[in-house]
Amino acid sequence: YAKASQQRVDSVCPFCGVGCQMSYHVSNGRIEHVEGKAGPANEGRLCVKGRFGFDYAHSPERLTRPLIRRADAPKDPASVMHRDWRELFREATWDEALDAAATGLRRAMASTSARGRQGPVAGFGSAKGTNEEAYLFQKLIRSAFGTHNVDHCTRLCHASSVAALMEGLGSAVVTNPLRDVVHADVVLIIGANPAQNHPVGATWIKNAIQQRGMKLVLIDPRRTELARQAWKHLGFKSGTDVALLNALLHTIIFEGLANTAYIEQHTLDFARLKAHVADFSPEAMAPVCGIDATTLREVARAYATAGSAMILWGMGVSQHTHGTDNARCLIALSLITGQIGRPGTGLHPLRGQNNVQGASDAGLIPMVLPDYHRVSEPAARAKAERLWGVPAGTLGSEPGLTVVEIVNAAYDGQIRAMLIQGENPAMSDPDAHHAREALARLDHLVVQDIFLTETACLADVVLPATAWPEKTGSVTNTDRCVQLGRKAVPAPGEARADAWITEQLARRLGLGWAYDVAPDGTASVDADHGIGAVFEEMRALMPSIAGLSWARLQREGAVTYPVDNESDPGHPVVFTDHFPTPTGRATLVPSALTPPAETPDADYPLVLITGRQLEHWHTGSMTRRSQVLDAVEPGPVVSLHPETAARLGLVAGEVAQVRSRRGSVALAVRFDAGMPRDTAFIPFAYAEAAANLLTNPALDPVGKIAELKYCAVDVRPM
Ligand code: SF4
Repeated sequence: YAKASQQRVDSVCPFCGVGCQMSYHVSNGRIEHVEGKAGPANEGRLCVKGRFGFDYAHSPERLTRPLIRRADAPKDPASVMHRDWRELFREATWDEALDAAATGLRRAMASTSARGRQGPVAGFGSAKGTNEEAYLFQKLIRSAFGTHNVDHCTRLCHASSVAALMEGLGSAVVTNPLRDVVHADVVLIIGANPAQNHPVGATWIKNAIQQRGMKLVLIDPRRTELARQAWKHLGFKSGTDVALLNALLHTIIFEGLANTAYIEQHTLDFARLKAHVADFSPEAMAPVCGIDATTLREVARAYATAGSAMILWGMGVSQHTHGTDNARCLIALSLITGQIGRPGTGLHPLRGQNNVQGASDAGLIPMVLPDYHRVSEPAARAKAERLWGVPAGTLGSEPGLTVVEIVNAAYDGQIRAMLIQGENPAMSDPDAHHAREALARLDHLVVQDIFLTETACLADVVLPATAWPEKTGSVTNTDRCVQLGRKAVPAPGEARADAWITEQLARRLGLGWAYDVAPDGTASVDADHGIGAVFEEMRALMPSIAGLSWARLQREGAVTYPVDNESDPGHPVVFTDHFPTPTGRATLVPSALTPPAETPDADYPLVLITGRQLEHWHTGSMTRRSQVLDAVEPGPVVSLHPETAARLGLVAGEVAQVRSRRGSVALAVRFDAGMPRDTAFIPFAYAEAAANLLTNPALDPVGKIAELKYCAVDVRPM
């Protein structure tokens, strides 16, 4: 249904990590519609978000001019949210706003001699921007302020998975692409709801079930859509993942189903794991996790004896105080069975955002530089310092603070200033009242975004940025596939590309950058300047993409790393014969059973799980401004089992109050027979009933991820 007058621009979906390729159909500078393109992850398919979630870019609420906070504007979070922007800000020129932003950051830096982890400045970058934007952002924070206090939403997403994978395998990448499910005989999905959150990925799973008889094991306290087609749905008790997974490990090891040849050749510490799981028989764990021993044994046998078996997992695994332990168990399952390193096997932590993989690869993490070189490695620091043209010793050896730690440090007054690019911690951080108060206490907050988000309401300077269809750059999906997003429409008003904004700030902070990034989001094919030059600099620091030049990316549009040279086609399956560790072997790490940080009691008797919906994306700033998506899911809901609702005197469609120890929200009741009877589910996209006002900020001690998937709440009629 493309009209002749329409221009067609090929790009990538801005939402989930599946990374569907799409074409924007553009007329008079506006996107008219979107259609799927035959990319490696989607073969022309799009879900409802990809197909209909584009008109946010043309919203009249877009930021179009830089804003500076009025001297008399309030800053207390309760009174600034969703107020008319004119009461909080005045419009400014770009020069004025950039000068104010840089001056405030410099002033905070001068307020103390402390640097590094104790330094007063921090940055939150974004998994919604391009790789080049993420790379420049971490480079700015590290080289201008001498701190590694730079992080992004991966901390609230797969930080625990990454910690376990780095520890066990020496690398945090997915071992196999999501589409490999079509080659698997058994697929185990735990703590993920692909039908809602990775919908095109879910179509490959459904196809494999229907066309090849693939056995799907869905492990989730909620009976979600894929359960209907699953061979087994294990609706276990929330928070008991380690009990369930150790029971599977026990069965495989003590029924003689482990792949001893693989274990001997490729792993370390099997004896330690075997001794640890000896006490975790399915019979002993059944009362703990709520799944009968026969089912646990059946699932363990099916996984271990399959010709090829794959594990996919999501935030239900990672967002726990024992998230790293959960992931350790999954890694151990694949290693002791040798279900790794071949098509249709392996480990795939499903990445949420369209570029959370790429932003992490680009170094937007406080403990590693680009390509996961630890900041403690002197050679890695020296190489970055040389390439970045900063004095030797600028980069410290101590990792920076993570997302929740930065917010806590802002609350305590240690962090005095922040630069936030495209993230919305006032909505996405746990215990959002605390997070908002922390942001309000900063001496100086600079926010780059496309809307006046809940976080931007608290800023001193707001810089209007380009939306995804308004700029060209690379993006890396959950499969490690680097793809090219292309500018399709002009940005509104004076909105500018994030990379241009970062370069302008860097210059004002004395860094002398000379990429000459285009302010309008365009990028030339050559790599002499602008975004192409940024990409080539990244490539010089990142061996994983050594064979992917900017010119090649323009030509091919999608290449999966690692890619060693220009003729290397890339490697969708990795760890085929060794692991990237000093010994070439993977390490098996046992996991202890630890309860969630906060458990239900008489005052707060239900478990709260938070998550996403098919139609809305994260904090809702984009999809709630997309007409079709907003029409389908227009308001916040709390999902409860009908029997639970009846017991609590709640009626479908009527408003309930949900309270935790940290806050309360009011929202409509929705019946869902797939919910466990002791549990409530709330999506976190709705500012008027922000789920994270309720959630627990307790952290996994290793991955530093908050327990967003478990806290205690009370639900009652209003
Ligand atoms: Fe976009 Fe993900 Fe939907 Fe694909 S599956 S269209 S990447 S939201």
